[in-house]
Amino acid sequence: MHPRITALLHESLGLSVWSMKKTVLITGCSTGFGLASAKHFAAQGWNVIATMRTPSPEQELVALPGVLVTRLDVQDRTSIDSALKVGVERFGGLDAVVNNAGFGLHGLFESTPREKILEQFEVNVFGVMDVIRAALPYFVQRGEGAIVNVSSGAGVFTLPMISLYCASKFALEGFSEALSYELTSQNVRVKLVEPGGVVDTHFVSRSAEEQSQNAVPPRYEAFVRATNEVFAKLRNDRAGATSEEVAKVIYEAATDTSDRLRYVATEGIKPLVKMRRETSEDAYLAFMRERFLAKPSPGQ
Ligand code: NAP
Repeated sequence: MHPRITALLHESLGLSVWSMKKTVLITGCSTGFGLASAKHFAAQGWNVIATMRTPSPEQELVALPGVLVTRLDVQDRTSIDSALKVGVERFGGLDAVVNNAGFGLHGLFESTPREKILEQFEVNVFGVMDVIRAALPYFVQRGEGAIVNVSSGAGVFTLPMISLYCASKFALEGFSEALSYELTSQNVRVKLVEPGGVVDTHFVSRSAEEQSQNAVPPRYEAFVRATNEVFAKLRNDRAGATSEEVAKVIYEAATDTSDRLRYVATEGIKPLVKMRRETSEDAYLAFMRERFLAKPSPGQ
């Protein structure tokens, strides 16, 4: 039934519209997949607790019915608790959480300060754990729930110059898979969404900014130049996927009551994901070394 008709029916029966609809909390809604997901869930008739680090009255989500924009910084546990509290007070419960907030700490491992690595894990891994820990009591209250963790192709295969981002998304993948066994017993579904190469978000500019902050030792210069050429080619090969497409996959994962764990969200990364998952270790590594390892041209 169309969400609007359901709402009218509930209104005529004197039921609260908000409490009859499903409710999702999404992190990182200021831009990119989070923003697109908030709009998509709302369009499907869900209540949305659209969270972000710095809410502003101009944010386009503020005007959408059934959407509550509120502050949540995944590095600040008090803000996680209070976003859940105000959201549940407003909408009457919680059915799903989308852990989308994240960023890519790109650059050479050797050039990256330890504090930046801690920040990468705080946002991409520990923040997710803190949101889940805070959301679980609300799922227990409901008797069910769904958790969608936004991972990455970089949580399936690795590339040079993004080792720390890969490390964070591999950690997220391992955590989510193991957690899914535990939480199935509590009627809570855990899902992993794996996108890659979507350029209509702020991801690329943030990663470039992170990378630009660390000096490259001269002995890496030829390697970095050649690797950047490989990445530029990769980006051209993969152009096309949009945040809206990823938001639809996030929604599909949140509403899929099957025990499926992983959803590859963009076509461009499917060949590499298949290679990683369906070939032998030796064949896979030989393929990656041949295709992705930078080969400085002669004389460099
Ligand atoms: P984006 O436009 O940069 O969005 C990232 C969101 O995360 C922003 O809302 C950002 O908020 C938020 N965020 C960062 N640190 C936060 C913190 N401490 N607390 C709360 N929110 C925080 O990039 P995106 O592409 O949509 O990325 C969303 C997710 O998809 C990330 O987990 C990313 O790793 C993953 N992903 C993206 C791609 C891609 O191709 N774009 C591919 C694979 C995976 P601010 O505006 O305040 O910074």
